[in-house]
Amino acid sequence: MKTDLWVTEKQTDDVKISFRVKEFLHEEKTDFQHLAVVDTYAYGPMLFLDNCVMTNIKDEFVYHEMISLVALNTHPNPQNVLVIGGGDGGVLREISKHPKVEKATLVEIDGQVIENSKKYFPEIAEGFKSPKVKVIVDDGIKYIKENKNTFDIIIIDSTDPIGPAAGLFSAEFYKNVYAALKEDGMMVAQTESPFLEPEIITHVNNTLQGIFPLVKLYHAYIPTYPSGMWTFTIGSKKYNPEQVDPAGIPDTNTRYYNPEIHLASLVLPNFVKQLLTSKETMNF
Ligand code: SAM
Repeated sequence: MKTDLWVTEKQTDDVKISFRVKEFLHEEKTDFQHLAVVDTYAYGPMLFLDNCVMTNIKDEFVYHEMISLVALNTHPNPQNVLVIGGGDGGVLREISKHPKVEKATLVEIDGQVIENSKKYFPEIAEGFKSPKVKVIVDDGIKYIKENKNTFDIIIIDSTDPIGPAAGLFSAEFYKNVYAALKEDGMMVAQTESPFLEPEIITHVNNTLQGIFPLVKLYHAYIPTYPSGMWTFTIGSKKYNPEQVDPAGIPDTNTRYYNPEIHLASLVLPNFVKQLLTSKETMNF
């Protein structure tokens, strides 16, 4: 009798998601986390870090386009972009396609994520090939303190707020992001699911409200992330992502993002709006 193999992510104590396995491709313990690459029937090769789904070739375009292009197409001149995390290269790919970007720096703490992404996810890691790109293997929490008034856009493409990424959700880190941005700069961070981690959304919103004059939440649909409904939070020194001219948005050959989705993603369901009324924050 044929036995099916499955790989499972425990999303909460009460929720799991499983993918039927075609082949286990790679597994190692890096200096920072457990890394696995598993080829699955439904989503092809999938990257796992500490047993959490990071990315896969079937739905990665949603996340990488949406975390990159809402801010890039709001800022009138996003020449110099910093990515913290993002070791799979997908955000770099979207940034590099943008005609106004001249320089993209990626600061990823774990070089093994970069190496394995290049090997097993060439479609995603193609961002590393762009001449606009500079890759630094370092802790983003340390790097951000060493750069003041430098970047137009800072994208925090981190893992969940555990382990080395926990500090990327702290007030101190966001204050250092503010200082590293130019006087009209913008930051964007992935801020988890309103169904399964609402407290993270509330925390980031409240923390950024105390640092940036403008804070906006937006959402997108990523089937392999917990609950499928995902959010991103923008902190902006000047520009409002709701006030863009759709006609001015360049076509960068996207599969999810478009000018209508840019604006629609900022329209929030009532239960998500509620999360922005609480004053709760968390300690990271
Ligand atoms: N899209 C994925 C998600 O939403 O979970 C995240 C993509 S990317 C793989 C996340 C990256 O953040 C990982 O490669 C991890 O090594 C990196 N990372 C975690 N903490 C970091 C830190 N303090 N500095 C730089 N990179 C960090």
